Amino acid sequence: MKARRVPLRKCVACQEMMPKKELIRIVRTPQEEVMIDLTGKKSGRGAYLCGKVACFKLAKKNRALDKALKHEVSPEIYEQLELDFIRVEDEFHETKDGMDDEG
Ligand SMILES: [Zn+2]
Repeated sequence: MKARRVPLRKCVACQEMMPKKELIRIVRTPQEEVMIDLTGKKSGRGAYLCGKVACFKLAKKNRALDKALKHEVSPEIYEQLELDFIRVEDEFHETKDGMDDEG
């Protein structure tokens, strides 16, 4: 039996390889904004984090997003992202089961 191919991405905080849909994408847009991209379709440079606040906190501590996005992320942006992250975490885990193999 061949294993199904699942696109894997690395969490920038814990460095674990995870299926893409298990991860939350953070994007730096061409307008130099850094935001959470739940659709995974925004253009710009992306970084992935497990859908866990613990990983976000780790990324914040290590400034892992700065490195992954090759862009300086200010403490204010990290604060804002953390709030957004907490807000979207539940929604993210609820919706991802519903969009399994479509698309
Ligand atoms: Zn992680």
